[in-house]
Amino acid sequence: MHAPHTKKGGTGRLMKGWASHRRILARRVWAAVLVCVLAQVAWLASAHAFALLGFQEFTDPFRWSDARLDEGELSFAIAPGFLGNASGDAPEAVENAFATWNEAHTAVKLEESGSVRLGVYWGASIDVFAAPSSFSYAGYSLDGALALALVGVYQGEILGADIFFNRDFAWSDNPDAGQFDIESVALHEIGHTLGLDHPDLADDVGRNYDIFGTVIAATGTEVMNSTIAPGEISRVLTSDELDGIDFLYPSSESGSGGEIIGGEQNPAVPEPGTLLLLGSGLAGLLGLGRRRFLK
Ligand SMILES: [Zn+2]
Repeated sequence: MHAPHTKKGGTGRLMKGWASHRRILARRVWAAVLVCVLAQVAWLASAHAFALLGFQEFTDPFRWSDARLDEGELSFAIAPGFLGNASGDAPEAVENAFATWNEAHTAVKLEESGSVRLGVYWGASIDVFAAPSSFSYAGYSLDGALALALVGVYQGEILGADIFFNRDFAWSDNPDAGQFDIESVALHEIGHTLGLDHPDLADDVGRNYDIFGTVIAATGTEVMNSTIAPGEISRVLTSDELDGIDFLYPSSESGSGGEIIGGEQNPAVPEPGTLLLLGSGLAGLLGLGRRRFLK
């Protein structure tokens, strides 16, 4: 088992954090893969409201298409034997997290269906795996991170995602002081696969918003914040995540969040140059994240 670092100062509190970045794939079409890494780090000062995947500009989010949402085509699948070394029922903890998102917004209907397959564009819409700390895929490694989310995007539309839990940590569906909460981390990673990013980290660069598009500081209680302590349970979406999901997926049944906003709701089709610009900007964040947060 991997032993998480103890926070300097002897409190015994252990931390994890996320760093995000993206990469551009040149195939037959332009595509982007966004990555979230959940690592152990010192607790960060946090900020509130919501951030969009990759700290994007407010008016050009990455999101699943209305067609796929309306037709209930979004599925998830959990790998057989998922976190079999965890305490409790690991698959059920993940299912609970999907259910929480389903309950958060009428447009979000993530149904368990099919089987996992490695690769963001394969398998279910969102595949959930466990992997050793040494795991890497498409150039991204878990390293010492707790979890990793890869999100495949083409022209602003999320096409598929994979979530990886680092099985070398101690996981539980009911964590003690030395274990990480599966459901809390799943809730966070699923948030990425829907288009949300870290409010605490985005706040630092002025990319954390309220539903009116106003830049706002974070409260420190958000599920989408980049750190979580062992033993910590964060299974309730805050108003910030709910505002974020309302912004990304406005619907007549979910209130007026999306309609109030002056900016575009549907993702503009980004030029390849736009994607590259975002990629290079986030590559800088990644470098910082790797030096500070990842082993
Ligand atoms: Zn994250």
